[in-house]
Amino acid sequence: MILGPTIIRKCLECFDLIEEFTILSGNTFGTIFWTDGKTQVPMLPDQPRFVKCPHCQALVWIDELEEVGKVEPILGNEIYKNAKSYDNNRVMMAEIKRELGQFEEAEILLRKPFASELPQAVSIIRELVQSRESFVAEMEFKD
Ligand SMILES: [Zn+2]
Repeated sequence: MILGPTIIRKCLECFDLIEEFTILSGNTFGTIFWTDGKTQVPMLPDQPRFVKCPHCQALVWIDELEEVGKVEPILGNEIYKNAKSYDNNRVMMAEIKRELGQFEEAEILLRKPFASELPQAVSIIRELVQSRESFVAEMEFKD
């Protein structure tokens, strides 16, 4: 996931400032689409459009708030983002190896610890590798 700028908006009720985090790009691996239009993207954070102001608790549509500024992501995050990107790529490579039936190579990719928050995706794929299952499976995440 690559973070975009943080947009600073002004609350319509209390005129205090609200931060809106943005995402430039991200991994949609494991996305589940539901018939009611809901989309679950396990490797990306939720970006709700209807939010509660952290200052006055008013419920507001974030897109309707005036944009008063923009803060570019700090460079210090680069190391963390690169680690996450590396981990996402490693999980994706393990999944490709699994689907090709190259289970030993998939196990090697999944053996090293992951720096980012992918433990459920990793354990699901690891279980499929251990049971020598090479078919695509739905990722069922538990809370
Ligand atoms: Zn407010």
